[in-house]
Amino acid sequence: NQGIGSWPRRRARMTPKKVALTCDGRDFTYAELAERVDRLANALRGLGVRRGDRVAYLGANHNSLAETLFALGLLGAVFVPLNHRLTAPELQYILEDSGAELLVCGRSHRHMAEQLKVKRTVVDDEGGEYEKLIASGAPEPIDEEVSLGDLCLIMYTSGTTGRPKGAMLSHGNLTWNTYNLMVDVDLTSSEVTLISAPLFHIAALAQTLLPTLIKGGRSILEASFDVDRTYDLIESERVTIMFGVPAMFNFIAQSPRWETADLSSLRNLLCGGAPVPEPLIRRYQERGLTFLQGYGMTETSPGALFLSAEDSVRKAGTAGVPCFFTDVRVVTADGRDAAPGEPGEVIVQGPNVMLGYWNRPEATAEALRDGWFHSGDIAIKDEEGYARIADRLKDMIISGGENIYPAEVEEVLYGHPAVAECAVIGVPDERWGEVGKAIVVLRPGMSATAEEIIKFFDGRLARYKIPKHVEFVDALPRNGSGKILKHVLRERHG
Ligand code: AMP
Ligand code: MG
Repeated sequence: NQGIGSWPRRRARMTPKKVALTCDGRDFTYAELAERVDRLANALRGLGVRRGDRVAYLGANHNSLAETLFALGLLGAVFVPLNHRLTAPELQYILEDSGAELLVCGRSHRHMAEQLKVKRTVVDDEGGEYEKLIASGAPEPIDEEVSLGDLCLIMYTSGTTGRPKGAMLSHGNLTWNTYNLMVDVDLTSSEVTLISAPLFHIAALAQTLLPTLIKGGRSILEASFDVDRTYDLIESERVTIMFGVPAMFNFIAQSPRWETADLSSLRNLLCGGAPVPEPLIRRYQERGLTFLQGYGMTETSPGALFLSAEDSVRKAGTAGVPCFFTDVRVVTADGRDAAPGEPGEVIVQGPNVMLGYWNRPEATAEALRDGWFHSGDIAIKDEEGYARIADRLKDMIISGGENIYPAEVEEVLYGHPAVAECAVIGVPDERWGEVGKAIVVLRPGMSATAEEIIKFFDGRLARYKIPKHVEFVDALPRNGSGKILKHVLRERHG
């Protein structure tokens, strides 16, 4: 078995007694983790899970999430992590699209699981359903052939049109991303990695959990991000590495503990997922802390560009150069490589680029052209080849590290009886980077307040996707063919 499901067992051969995971105050050594994963794999097989079957996971960061990922990897089955901030209808769509018949649910989200229709659910509850399942499985290693090209997980990402799509990542994709990261970051066998960004997103999973495990370090799994708790853990556990989106690092720097806390253990601060503001980089620099910046996306598992510690100040504002095993080009609309200073679309090729979108041959063909993944991001390279992410071709907002696709928000808003026309744009926000703003044209003779519009989204869309601002106008600017001109809206209302 060459898949990532074999990693706990491989690591346990080398360092059985070292702690692999800390979660809810409980330590799991590599030997314990490997045994739990073997037992879980056998138990899941007993429930009928076979190679290629999809199994979803709903919940906050927890050892059960990691164990499910690895156990499925041993079986050649497919992990479908769910964003637990989504509403029931959004989650139901993903369950159905992926065809998952089994849902493993963390104790944090069992109430949500009760609202979802799925053939079978295993809840990690106080009654111990999940623990009983593990205990029921044989501790013998699973004998299933899994190779690097096999599908490992499906991670859903929304798009500029239609419903969310599942990016299919193979065992090889995740393995090569781990290699990329190990080239760029000086990881050691004594890492203490704080994981408080959600593991249902690719960054925490692939940039922290997997690399720490392969090196034999310890991952501390936190259910959510909390500033005070982050300081407590850094000081008491001597955390050496963490990943955060810019909003998280901003909250940390705003804390009264910023000046006095002992942050001397922190060696690697990985920051990415959204543009990293230069003032934030400087602020950390003044405190003696250097960001390692990454640019990437779910479809590239995720690392594409990386800015090393040495370059972090000299090249602040750029996302760096391509990761070692990955190639990144910036191409113009007519398909040639952009000259330095000239904007173009970022395209990515390499062993970390996804297999395609689950059951979406057209979307796959559109995204993967001639072997290059088209990111929908606009970058400008400088003379030395460092790329600055300058803009997006895709209509997308990043709020606190979560992506919002206006098309999805607008579709819900069109369901409001008083709304004749609407468009959602991103506006700058101190805390979240960007937040959504809805520009609304009301039907003649109808009325609605901003509060009513915002309230309308309750239960229909995840909270982070709901616009924070609403503005009413008489008409939306359109071009000759009737397309709404979002850049005009951004100039007028941004
Ligand atoms: P996701 O699909 O959630 O993985 O989000 C990927 C998108 O986040 C990319 O296509 C970019 O638009 C954005 N992104 C990720 N990292 C960065 C970064 N370092 N700078 C600017 N934008 C970024
Ligand atoms: Mg993102």
